[in-house]
Amino acid sequence: MLPDLKNLTLEELEAFIAGFGKERYRARQIMKWLYHHRVSTFEEMTDLAKELRTRLSRKARISSLKLLAVQTSRDGSKKYLFELEDGGLVESVLIPEEGRLTLCISTQVGCAMGCRFCLTGKGGLARDLTTGEILNQILGVAQGLNGKERITNIVLMGMGEPLANYENVTRALKVMTADIGLGLSYRRVTLSTVGLIPQMKRLFKDGVRCRLAVSLNASTQKVRSYLMPISKKYPLQSLLETCRRLPLPPRERITFEYVLIRGINDSETDAQRLTRIIKGVRCKVNLIPYNECPDLPFNRPTIQTVLLFQRILIEEGYTALLRESRGEDISAACGQLRGRIKGS
Ligand code: SF4
Repeated sequence: MLPDLKNLTLEELEAFIAGFGKERYRARQIMKWLYHHRVSTFEEMTDLAKELRTRLSRKARISSLKLLAVQTSRDGSKKYLFELEDGGLVESVLIPEEGRLTLCISTQVGCAMGCRFCLTGKGGLARDLTTGEILNQILGVAQGLNGKERITNIVLMGMGEPLANYENVTRALKVMTADIGLGLSYRRVTLSTVGLIPQMKRLFKDGVRCRLAVSLNASTQKVRSYLMPISKKYPLQSLLETCRRLPLPPRERITFEYVLIRGINDSETDAQRLTRIIKGVRCKVNLIPYNECPDLPFNRPTIQTVLLFQRILIEEGYTALLRESRGEDISAACGQLRGRIKGS
């Protein structure tokens, strides 16, 4: 199969074009056609010479995803089901909120992380998404919006662990946040991870810009490694130490996501312990009451328990926000996905 131009960053596209013996600035023209005008054929790139367009169409392709279905929830959120070129399926979820329109995208088909509270984790990993497939979820959803609507925020919290697909995800982040690409401010792009420590450090070393959310979900190593097997490899204490040391830009904070599960991680003792273990991390906490799901053996805490947990964090000086689920009636890919999106 011909290489997909949407798998390339600007620098990579420049190198590709240079291979044709053409000026590097042609790459910027092509990026504009792909991400500003959003064309699907080389023929439409009318400021390129016909000869170059013909050569490009013989040596490369412009991918897109096939939209199979859109389901709209009672609360206005929408789930998009896309088919990939190999027949695999991915989901993206669009969440309208006061003053913003957030799209949650997937980064893998399935997921290898095996979090016990998540349906996607039960099925295992099929494969990584390419950079083009990650970006095409955004382009595919945007295409169906009416003229007044615009996606304002992107969250990488759908199916898959983004940092387990590091190369393709970081390329996609570069295109999302480049003016010549999708032109989003990095403050409007949030990557959520289970805590793959080496890749978290590498993000900063590589200068990849985005907001970072870490799925914490427990106040002890024992409970966390029960809920999230990855914690056996990257223990809670090391994860928090990494978070403390990450060179966050001024005024930036890490978001800790904490799915509250009845009788597992929702006690007063958990809340108090949480306030102690996250000390020294520039952070805020999103509390997400668990979404009950027939195939999983967990329950949602009572509202009193949730509010008490929140109060304990606030009294210790933390920003702790309650995130209610959206679109429960359209059941998205990740069991806890919708709750994690709000306010990321
Ligand atoms: S919660 Fe996220 S990281 Fe964990 S298994 Fe589900 S999709 Fe993977």
